[in-house]
Amino acid sequence: MTLSIPVSFEFFPPKTAEGEEKLMHTVTQLATRNPEFFSVTYGAGGSTQAGTFNAVANIRSKGFEAAPHLSCVGATRANTLNILDELKAQGVNRIVALRGDLPSGMGGMGELAHASDLVSLIREHSGDWFHISVAAYPEYHPQARTPQDDLKHFVNKMQAGANTAITQYFYNADAYARFVEDVRAKGVNAPIIPGIMPITNYNRLARFSETCGAEIPRWVLLKLASFGDDAESIKAFGQEVVAQLCERLVQLGAPSLHFYTLNQAEPSLGVLGQL
Ligand code: FAD
Repeated sequence: MTLSIPVSFEFFPPKTAEGEEKLMHTVTQLATRNPEFFSVTYGAGGSTQAGTFNAVANIRSKGFEAAPHLSCVGATRANTLNILDELKAQGVNRIVALRGDLPSGMGGMGELAHASDLVSLIREHSGDWFHISVAAYPEYHPQARTPQDDLKHFVNKMQAGANTAITQYFYNADAYARFVEDVRAKGVNAPIIPGIMPITNYNRLARFSETCGAEIPRWVLLKLASFGDDAESIKAFGQEVVAQLCERLVQLGAPSLHFYTLNQAEPSLGVLGQL
């Protein structure tokens, strides 16, 4: 039996003309899966912001739906409002709204300290024009004081006017099930879309997961480490683990799956091909 579930794919903004060309090739390959939308990340603090809007415009020019991520930490209200107006003028009506993390040593939190402030500002300024997705953390945000605090802040963010939430990646389906149960109990009925990180590289995954607070199960880490430089074995094992996770998430009622592609088509298509 083949599982059919809506999908979306996330990219980072390319830094070179070659990267841009490669990204458009990746978009074409992933478009075969009829995604609901593509999204492009945004560098809090300014490093890649123009690249985000360029990439979104390029993807949209091919006839696909694309959403920029937009972060608020360190940003001013005035600048944020300009961005919203510009996006609206271009016909962009979907945003992934985030707080973001400022590069170390860079200024204070600014006028919009939390993602909920950004969501409120978007609703206040642009009404219902934008479909707003926000971030969710089934294993809790690394800076959260307590899980209860984090859930409370998440609920506030949804109540500020978000339509959906996309989760940080995780490899423990029970954490997702529990998170959804907890937020439903607090009256949040919006779709909570699992973020899926395909496994292709042991070192990169271990490094990323440390920073963002995503737990990799010990048996997965040990097995990946045991493959050393054997990229084929890492790929085959990673694909199997992530496909099984996706199947479990679908059984748990996940409304769709959002893939962190790192601008590559093959890892996400490999996982989807196994479902
Ligand atoms: P928030 O929802 O503001 O939460 C951040 C922390 O503050 C949490 O610990 C929360 O509990 C706490 N908090 C919230 N409100 C309050 C309050 N009122 N009082 C006290 N504490 C509070 N980063 C980027 O820079 N660019 C991107 O494009 C990007 N895309 C992402 C996409 C997804 C799907 C996800 C899951 C994350 C993404 N991130 C991105 C990372 C994200 O910016 C970081 O995880 C950041 O640390 C938190 O952002 P947030 O929007 O979840 O913040």
